[in-house]
Amino acid sequence: MPIYTINYIKQANPSSTHLVVIHVKDSWYYDKIFIGRNTQPVKRGVDISGKIAFLEKNVLDEITLSHIISQWEFPEQEVIRLSKRQFLMPGFIDTHTHASQYPNAGTVYPIVVNNLLRSGTTTAVYFATIHLESSKYLARLVKEKGQRGFIGKVNMDCNSPENYIESLDNSVKSTEEFVKYVLNLEKDEGRGNGSRLVYPIITPRFAITCTSQLMNSLGLLAKKYNMPIQSHLSENIGEINFISELFPHLPDYTTVYDHHGLLNEKTIMAHGIHLSSKELKLIKERNIGISHCPTSNFAICSGVCNVRQLLDEGIKVGLGTDLSGGYSKSILNAIRNANIASRVVFMASSKVDDKPLNKSFPHLTLPELTYLATMGGAELVNLDKIFLMI
Ligand SMILES: [Zn+2]
Repeated sequence: MPIYTINYIKQANPSSTHLVVIHVKDSWYYDKIFIGRNTQPVKRGVDISGKIAFLEKNVLDEITLSHIISQWEFPEQEVIRLSKRQFLMPGFIDTHTHASQYPNAGTVYPIVVNNLLRSGTTTAVYFATIHLESSKYLARLVKEKGQRGFIGKVNMDCNSPENYIESLDNSVKSTEEFVKYVLNLEKDEGRGNGSRLVYPIITPRFAITCTSQLMNSLGLLAKKYNMPIQSHLSENIGEINFISELFPHLPDYTTVYDHHGLLNEKTIMAHGIHLSSKELKLIKERNIGISHCPTSNFAICSGVCNVRQLLDEGIKVGLGTDLSGGYSKSILNAIRNANIASRVVFMASSKVDDKPLNKSFPHLTLPELTYLATMGGAELVNLDKIFLMI
């Protein structure tokens, strides 16, 4: 599937019969020109390293169209006419998925990436595994398939099965090797940081499976290479209780990560369901993002995240599938379940007696959900500003 980095497309204008021409470079292989009717892109187009090279509105006839095509002089373009029911929209961003749980073997990675692309996910934030070589393989694969990916070699050095654990030393060393490997993957192609396809992301599985020493080392590594960080936060009550046993000297789960230097504006925490107001304040202060994974939250009965409250607090939110905690690879499905989750929060906060409904947490609207699946995710991975062309 081509990578459409179109920022946002407004609802079709039913009265318009004009054509819209969008030129897209498809995964660096060849050019395409899409011609749609009745679509009305907003003024902010996107231009990133040759992706969408131009956008013309109100093309009235075929002569103008051929004039535009020749004017831009693209050598190998293919013209694709969209039917009445087809439209272009931004690629989905899956801000939390476990590639290895698809299921649990490096050989499955091509299927994962292909399936995500087929589901419209043009950017994904991946957990790989603790294994260095298969994590490198996933990074290569994502790049070759033309998906944009944040790839994390997972770290865990305690509270895990014997056959799935690393020594502290090996965990830190192999992670640094992985980071250097991914940073060098596109070196020869001359792409700047804003246009690269694959990025390494520091990935402590969660605070339960990482010692303090490991988390401290990972925090320093993230700082050294100015890298994003991902993990899990406040997914279920049992996990929160265990965290307070492991770190009795720290007041809450969020502070555990902060204490080890793992919270910054490039941090993505999956779930964030049972957060206290103090934790919300810290999350806002550190400007970290929450990956809302409603399909997983429902499937394993973790709880219902109050996304409206997060947004009201000014916290960044994107959507994630959390495969295979979540049963579906599709961000469309995440949108559906996020919709239901927000209605559950709304109903739970409503009165059932004679008093009027308490609308302190109105449910999310479809435009808001679409935003979370696209631009919201871009904010989490710090690509939102790169994608904007005013
Ligand atoms: Zn997860």
